[in-house]
Amino acid sequence: MPIDPTLPYDEANIFAKILRGEIPSKKVYEDDHALAFHDIAPQAPVHILVIPKGAYVSWDDFTAKASDAEIAGFARAVGHVAREAGLVDAGYRVLYNVGVNGGQEVPHLHAHIFGGKPLGRMIG
Ligand code: 5GP
Repeated sequence: MPIDPTLPYDEANIFAKILRGEIPSKKVYEDDHALAFHDIAPQAPVHILVIPKGAYVSWDDFTAKASDAEIAGFARAVGHVAREAGLVDAGYRVLYNVGVNGGQEVPHLHAHIFGGKPLGRMIG
């Protein structure tokens, strides 16, 4: 079910548990600002999620409230993860689902990085 984007941050969400090490993930990268791990149900040959370490519900929440250092650190982490995954030459897609129309299901900001095959044009 898509999340209600007006609700406050839920410390019990699945990505908060991954950040706290309470449930496992297939980690690909971690630094002071971000953690990256493979999506549990990949929708492309490469499907990596990058999440900020701070408690932000969505891209909207993050870009409204995070510090410049958090935003820069997270953006650099997304680029770094894609480079390290070898996606740059062939190309890739970064996607943020936001709120109900965006179909966001986990209420902790996450960038989807998709690659490894031609992804088609935009939506659908
Ligand atoms: P959203 O629809 O919120 O943008 O995407 C949530 C993503 O999180 C989905 O692609 C889903 O497969 C992934 N996901 C949900 N639960 C888990 C989990 O426990 N571990 C991992 N690695 N991915 C998850």
